[in-house]
Amino acid sequence: MFSKILIANRGEIACRVIATARRMGVRTVAVYSDADVGAKHVAMADEAVRIGPPPVAESYLLSERIIEAALATGAQAIHPGYGFLSENPDFVDAVAAAGLVFIGPTASAIRAMGLKDAAKDLMAKANVPVVPGYTGADQDPVVMAQEAARIGYPVMIKARAGGGGKGMRLVQQAQDFAVALEGARREGQANFGDPVCLIEKYIQSPRHIEMQVFGDSHGNVVHLFERDCSLQRRHQKVIEEAPAPGMTDAVRGAMGAAAVEAARAIGYQGAGTVEFIVDGSGGLRTDGFWFMEMNTRLQVEHPVSEAITGLDFVELQLRVAAGEPLPVTQDDLTMTGHAFEARIYAEDVARGFRPATGVLQHLDFPAGLTFARSSVRVDSGVRRGDEIGPWYDPMIAKLIVHGPTRDAALRQLRNALADCHVAGSVTNLEFLHALADEPSFVAGQMDTTLIERQLETLIAQAEVSPCVTGLAAVVAAGLLDKHGAGPWSNLSGWRHWGSAQEYVQLMLDDEVLDLSITHCGDGVFAIGDAELSIKRCGDTAYGVTQNGLQRQMHAVVTGSDITVFEGGRTHRYSRIDPLLAAQHTGADSDSIVAPMPGSVTQVSAVAGTSVVKDTPLIVLEAMKMEHTLRAPRDGVIAEVLVARGDQVIDGQVLLALVSEE
Ligand code: ADP
Ligand code: ADP
Ligand code: MG
Repeated sequence: MFSKILIANRGEIACRVIATARRMGVRTVAVYSDADVGAKHVAMADEAVRIGPPPVAESYLLSERIIEAALATGAQAIHPGYGFLSENPDFVDAVAAAGLVFIGPTASAIRAMGLKDAAKDLMAKANVPVVPGYTGADQDPVVMAQEAARIGYPVMIKARAGGGGKGMRLVQQAQDFAVALEGARREGQANFGDPVCLIEKYIQSPRHIEMQVFGDSHGNVVHLFERDCSLQRRHQKVIEEAPAPGMTDAVRGAMGAAAVEAARAIGYQGAGTVEFIVDGSGGLRTDGFWFMEMNTRLQVEHPVSEAITGLDFVELQLRVAAGEPLPVTQDDLTMTGHAFEARIYAEDVARGFRPATGVLQHLDFPAGLTFARSSVRVDSGVRRGDEIGPWYDPMIAKLIVHGPTRDAALRQLRNALADCHVAGSVTNLEFLHALADEPSFVAGQMDTTLIERQLETLIAQAEVSPCVTGLAAVVAAGLLDKHGAGPWSNLSGWRHWGSAQEYVQLMLDDEVLDLSITHCGDGVFAIGDAELSIKRCGDTAYGVTQNGLQRQMHAVVTGSDITVFEGGRTHRYSRIDPLLAAQHTGADSDSIVAPMPGSVTQVSAVAGTSVVKDTPLIVLEAMKMEHTLRAPRDGVIAEVLVARGDQVIDGQVLLALVSEE
């Protein structure tokens, strides 16, 4: 076994790898950009090496600097995590040339699967069923349109180098093909430096079911069962689970055999995932799944498979990379119970799931951090007080739960989500909670279009209860601190206050609330028409009673915000400062401002030219989506302040307009 490894990644996956290395007595070296000097993965590692400024192209993607760091610290092997350099065969070659071990497959295996078109051709030769389509070299749009018609609409266009849901377009009818192809090409070029696309038949009611595989350097290959990743938004996974609902031994056997076949065909070593698209319209069938792609790395959602197999996949990766044979054979492997993973992100669900930033002034996860003592596991790369910045993926944590049955695990998921309290940035927690209650999902009947179909219901805001607003008002007015209803009252010499009144002005989602609070003594408050009894029962915990019904809530104060957590919902109130309110004028129509952090993929604006209102001027890519920014009014472009490829922050001015005269 290695005595020291370097982790060429950041965030939760770097922390997760370090945790296993530490348990195995392997020393660790972290690398970091200037944005991550104080990051959790740096604090966890035995040593850490700075590699450059925040942009990934100048830090986490610099293979040479990372290899130098490994050599300088005496690390013998490099774990790439996922993303970044993990699927870059040139990096694997460079690591080997430096006399180091890459913890992952060989460069040739990565190359074989790196481009979706070549991978599909290879798999078809190995008799693995593939999605019918066109993977030809002729990229003439007319030829491709003919191919699409031959395959039959709807079709999926994919950038062959794509990943993470980028560079894909679903096309319903021939007339939309050309525009979609152009979009997929542009995304392929911008993100992966490769515009070549393939076309696939769009599978109706599709389910995404993937098989985890592991190979070693002795020719052993096993599969570790399946994961169902059908809950997706814009081709990105949201909640994953294992095993797949409705899976039968026969289908699992067939998919497992196909996955092992795929891995064998390329001499696969280490952890990998073979992704299949599955026809979910009837029950699962042995002839109803098709190879989509293979991810030649540890997958984001690997913990659900760890939960049901009881194995630590990072440990297996290290063992295999160190030349040991896999410690398990196919027959040794068993599944226990059911597991879910939910990806918790800093994102603004109400505004189209925009990526968000912020300092996580409050961060509370359910107690268990591993499955050792609890059925809940939280993999996170941030701690309370850390910042979600504009530079990297805005993931806050992965929440993984394990239970004896799917129903039990789902109950754990709901509870655990309700126990995740984040203040300082908006999150998708409420959305995840709504999803965990969605009837089709609860019944195990989902396909990849479920979220899109149910989106309105999933993001609908239920009415806010007077108890919640009442608690926010009382906390905002500092009344519980002053009068200490609850355990503090005895200490501070509580006295009856008569019916003193206080006024608070709070803002909740653009709505201004004028609240008058009458303190009736003994923790009883009249707020508007509601009479509430509020008891503080812990650091952030409160019991709020109305009409004899007590509900447990949490409230935290961060700056001028009061965030109330209740039953999986997060309510963020802000105290209104009259001075700041005056500055809240309408949108500045003399400029285009970045509505979120992202990178500029297209600039069609030219300084000095006249534009009319709503002319598309700049395309910003953020969170794997394109956003077209348009002229706010008629005018002349005075200045274009960004260029293609620039990384911009939320609120940055991108373009200035002047009037015609
Ligand atoms: P997976 O395929 O492992 O389930 P996704 O498809 O959601 O994960 O991830 C999309 C792509 O983005 C993958 O190639 C993954 O390696 C990459 N990725 C995801 N999260 C991060 C991150 N925090 N940093 C860098 N790359 C990431
Ligand atoms: P990426 O490399 O971005 O992960 P994939 O090829 O794995 O790209 O596709 C991502 C997702 O898009 C899949 O999980 C699935 O939901 C959907 N998808 C891909 N191909 C098809 C298809 N042919 N029919 C239906 N859905 C598809
Ligand atoms: Mg995929």
